[in-house]
Amino acid sequence: MDNFPGNLFVVAAPSGAGKSSLVKALMELDAKVRPSVSHTTRQPRGQEKHGREYFFVSLPEFDQMVESNAFLEWANVHGQRYGTSRKAIEDRIAQGADVILEIDFQGAIQVKKLFANAVLIFILPPSWEELKSRLHNRGEDAPDIIDLRLQNAADEMAQAKEFDYVIINELFETALFDLKAIVHAQRLKYLAQRRARADIFQALNIT
Ligand code: GDP
Ligand code: ADP
Ligand code: 5GP
Repeated sequence: MDNFPGNLFVVAAPSGAGKSSLVKALMELDAKVRPSVSHTTRQPRGQEKHGREYFFVSLPEFDQMVESNAFLEWANVHGQRYGTSRKAIEDRIAQGADVILEIDFQGAIQVKKLFANAVLIFILPPSWEELKSRLHNRGEDAPDIIDLRLQNAADEMAQAKEFDYVIINELFETALFDLKAIVHAQRLKYLAQRRARADIFQALNIT
């Protein structure tokens, strides 16, 4: 498994940088990009639905899945477990979609080892103050959880150097434009074009 049979995008960011909002906006504009729904042991937030944002499972259920090798990657993040199941990816491959993973940096690095053609994108906030205020304004996490996420942010951001691209999410529309540009450029790569436009390559006798 060293190549993903489509375009695979992996987005990571410290909590509150705007990763979920950007990925959601991208998917609303581009029906060919589909998410992989992760499993997590954390509690659902207000609007989150089982099977949509995450599959919410108990720790024993998660560990059982680890035992049975159900995960392509998994990691401990902010004291909870999160993992990408093989099934989540296989379902998307079967649909012929480009897949986007919203996972932490540990998971991103594991995925890059499995699929060398995965495109790793790191989202940074424009400042510490802005990161803090977005986490508070989102109003979804208790103060102690926000503190933990902010404490972890420095170590997470130090991993940006392992990624292919960095987007600074200052103005949302600019960051979304950047994300679309990365997706677009990836689709123009030789191997991606040869796969997507096989008929033209064949007619032109290009191998
Ligand atoms: P967010 O930080 O506000 O997006 O909060 P979440 O609770 O949704 O995500 C917490 C962390 O877990 C983030 O860093 C996610 O990217 C990461 N995460 C979510 N799903 C996965 C996954 O399947 N695998 C890995 N490795 N990390 C994940
Ligand atoms: P993450 O998934 O990285 O934790 P979210 O997408 O939940 O982050 O964004 C965190 C909060 O910041 C949300 O309330 C979101 O609406 C807001 N947000 C995202 N991008 C921007 C931006 N460019 N400017 C201002 N607020 C933003
Ligand atoms: P949140 O709890 O705010 O939804 O997510 C916290 C962190 O966990 C985020 O950085 C998110 O990207 C990460 N995360 C979510 N799903 C996965 C996953 O399947 N695998 C890994 N490794 N991280 C994940």
